[in-house]
Amino acid sequence: MSVVKVFNKGYDPATGIGELLHTTSVRHAFGMIRRGVADPVELTLAGERIVPTALELTRELSGAWVEGDACRSVGFSFRAVHERDHWSCAYCGRSVSKRPQCAALLATVDHIVPASRGGESSWLNLVSACRECNGRKADQTPEEAGMPLRYAPYDPATAYRVGGHVEEIPVMSEAALSRV
Ligand SMILES: [Zn+2]
Repeated sequence: MSVVKVFNKGYDPATGIGELLHTTSVRHAFGMIRRGVADPVELTLAGERIVPTALELTRELSGAWVEGDACRSVGFSFRAVHERDHWSCAYCGRSVSKRPQCAALLATVDHIVPASRGGESSWLNLVSACRECNGRKADQTPEEAGMPLRYAPYDPATAYRVGGHVEEIPVMSEAALSRV
């Protein structure tokens, strides 16, 4: 199984100078190309197929998170949860704000598994929610409240967002590292 190197935007194939982010499989590489996340910058012939050996991200990845055109690395905070979730309620999808037009749309952070029932304050258990939905959900899980999540929360340290797409950062294995 060949390994494809994934470089940050700005890779120079002529000199080979660039920021190596991780390696991935040929299969995953084709998926990234198809979704417009990355372009092939080095190719090789494998049997009768032309396959990429190196990709360059179409948008620069800064820290662990790319959001639209603005690149920023984020640490965990309630504000960062809102940023990750585009300031939109995970339950009704409406835009939330710290200074909303109406009180119902006040930005709150909801514990998916309620804190009162042992839910942690972590990337994977917190979502942005409007005050109205948060109040309605109260001390229930989404299933109990009949309020399904519109999107899955993710940890920006292990995933990054390019446009509307969340891309997992694969863990670089020892074997892959030895071939880089
Ligand atoms: Zn809501």
